[in-house]
Amino acid sequence: MHFSIISVVPELLESPLGHSVIRRARDWGLLEIECIDLRTFGLGAYRQVDDYPYGGGAGMVLMAEPLVNCIEALKSKRSYDLVIYLTPDGERFDQHMANRLSLQHNLMLICGHYKGIDQRVRDHWVNLEVSIGDYVLSGGEIAACALVDAVGRLIPGVLNDETSALSDSFQDGLLAPPVYTRPAEFQGLPVPDILLSGHQVRIEDWRHEQALQRTTERRPDILRD
Ligand code: SAM
Repeated sequence: MHFSIISVVPELLESPLGHSVIRRARDWGLLEIECIDLRTFGLGAYRQVDDYPYGGGAGMVLMAEPLVNCIEALKSKRSYDLVIYLTPDGERFDQHMANRLSLQHNLMLICGHYKGIDQRVRDHWVNLEVSIGDYVLSGGEIAACALVDAVGRLIPGVLNDETSALSDSFQDGLLAPPVYTRPAEFQGLPVPDILLSGHQVRIEDWRHEQALQRTTERRPDILRD
């Protein structure tokens, strides 16, 4: 799977996409991530990428021309399934969307900055707008990293144990059950006996009950869905 990420601060993408599971996926050739500095498509001697908003008001807007030049340059090299703009007023990102996107091959992500990007780019070059939650970040880079991480770990072969992602929260409509590791007792706090019993069927039943209880208490909205 290939991601092309357009950003005015590509340095922000380096660490989250350069370590742990995503780093391994890249090393193994399961995931390609290309970060493009929008300024290389900037206009004039100063590589301008932003300008004042028409109608006045605070903040700058990323201009259409550098963005479209960048999008078209990327499209001339590969065919993209989707061009995604990260934005707080987009469709809410969740595990269902992550599952859906993990089936695609080539995704382009546009990170906004300042007040956002010129609306004409959104109207004519973007196919999907995605929000990672009802709050406003300074730029789309953190949102892009969240999306790439959540989608990337679903690609077959990326996780050591393929079944691991299936037992994570939201995959089966439930939150994940509690987990414990050694020692069996820590500062007088024991691990539930059932987990030490060796009865795999009963352990799975217990986990399911715990997941159900946790979801009922914390996210009854998921159960209703
Ligand atoms: N003026 C915009 C608004 O009120 O909707 C917010 C602009 S925000 C300061 C700058 C950029 O951060 C946006 O263009 C977007 O790319 C990104 N961003 C901010 N919050 C986000 C969120 N919740 N989900 C996805 N991207 C977000």
